[in-house]
Amino acid sequence: MVMGELPVETDVLVIGGGPGGYGAAFRAADLGLDVTLVNDEPKPGGVCLLRGCIPSKGLLYITELIYEAQAAAAMGVEFQRPKVKLDTLRSWKDQLVDGLADGLVELCQKRDVRLVQGRARFDGSRQVRLQDSELAAIQFKHAIIATGSRPLPLPGTEFKPGGRVMDSATALALAEIPKTLLVVGGGYVGLELGMVYAALGSRVTLVEMGEGLMPGVEEDLVEPLLHRIEELFEGVYFNTKVAGLKEGQEGVEVQLEGQGQEAGTSFERVLVAVGRRPNSDDLGLDRAGVELDEGGFIQVDKQRRTTAEHIFAVGDAAGGMLLAHKAMYEGKVAAEVIAGQPGAFDARAVPAVVYTDPQIAWCGLTEAEAKAEGREVQVARYPWRASGRARSMGAGDGLTKLIVEPQSQRLLGVAVVGREAEALIAEGVLAIEMGAVARDLALVIHPHPTLSETLGEAAETFLGGATHLGPRRDASQKRS
Ligand code: FAD
Repeated sequence: MVMGELPVETDVLVIGGGPGGYGAAFRAADLGLDVTLVNDEPKPGGVCLLRGCIPSKGLLYITELIYEAQAAAAMGVEFQRPKVKLDTLRSWKDQLVDGLADGLVELCQKRDVRLVQGRARFDGSRQVRLQDSELAAIQFKHAIIATGSRPLPLPGTEFKPGGRVMDSATALALAEIPKTLLVVGGGYVGLELGMVYAALGSRVTLVEMGEGLMPGVEEDLVEPLLHRIEELFEGVYFNTKVAGLKEGQEGVEVQLEGQGQEAGTSFERVLVAVGRRPNSDDLGLDRAGVELDEGGFIQVDKQRRTTAEHIFAVGDAAGGMLLAHKAMYEGKVAAEVIAGQPGAFDARAVPAVVYTDPQIAWCGLTEAEAKAEGREVQVARYPWRASGRARSMGAGDGLTKLIVEPQSQRLLGVAVVGREAEALIAEGVLAIEMGAVARDLALVIHPHPTLSETLGEAAETFLGGATHLGPRRDASQKRS
């Protein structure tokens, strides 16, 4: 960064250094535009790198090692109980994050993207003012807003820095491993972090206001995960509301209403993972003519253009699926549109992955969405008990599932629960994006023995019978 020499005018101003922001800045620079990236934190990377995807997946890798070592006992290999050296674990995770953030700074330098630290606020439709920065203001021809989102506290409460009631960022900081942890929220963040703490030795209780885990995700995918967390957690309670939280020196007093009343009233720490809200409220957007929807997300069109023609918004701040790869893709779309290229966010299949044990991943249409749209679909399921590779890894409770349009046999959705779902789902994304039909998946030669065969065999199930499952009695052969 060469702060003092920074010009105050730029072609493309990107606000926010997360995956949406740096994805946009790098693409715009690669297309020959003059780019300035303003970020309010010392290092780029945003929530994803600094306190989201990367640190959580680092800790979940450790979690996986611990659970796999435990599972090996049933196969005749016993390891000693793991000894967790918290300081070493914390510094390993911090180094992982720092190294990648430094890499982003280098990538900015290589591309001549000006990286400016500061908090940007619109001063009009062509200028932002900066706070806590060496620069006072930047004028721009185009702007891309990528300011992300922040955790929602429980109603009437707020997160205190260093407090015992933690948001996901505080939980990832790993100040200590509490003896007891209450996780509020059965979405992916609560489940992933709950699993990390359970593996490290906390007695974890999870409460969820709704009727099940992972609202919006199909029951047959969630079921194996529910079984697993019932084994790992002290308790899992649905239809439960937190009616009160009182933080003390030693722990947190909690008042639970509903099924979880019996879960207890005192926990060493509480993790609140009940959702996120967009960082759109303190940007001076009204001065720039940028409008929000009812949820506070910035309104955008397919090109990620806001209600102000020369201002774009991407990532969590623009709503939709709050995921890093979606943010980055949108950032590239906005940069290409600014550079005069034809670009649009028209993905048919945005994948989502939950990195729990077992993992859950899906893309494209779900059964529930198909139903809501009134679309006729046929569902093909391939249970992993029929997969030699899954059984050889002790992962026979997984499932691969295809959502197919019966007439055209086109793949509309793919979902996987089980080991390595994170990698398997990529084949589903490619198949849907390329307009593949079920037969394409069945005819592709998948290496044996791998979990990828379950995608081919799921397609065979749809067509009438999978090699390792036998014929489907209810279906006429569709192979020809
Ligand atoms: P962010 O990453 O939020 O970055 C926005 C940046 O802009 C921040 O650095 C912020 O400080 C800065 N900023 C805000 N306002 C201003 C301003 N006025 N001026 C200057 N800078 C500003 N997603 C996945 O795809 N996979 C995962 O495995 C995954 N795991 C997650 C785990 C956790 C615990 C959490 C919390 C999230 C996870 N996510 C995951 C979600 C992912 O982190 C977000 O979807 C992603 O970071 C959004 O990117 P973004 O660029 O929109 O915003």
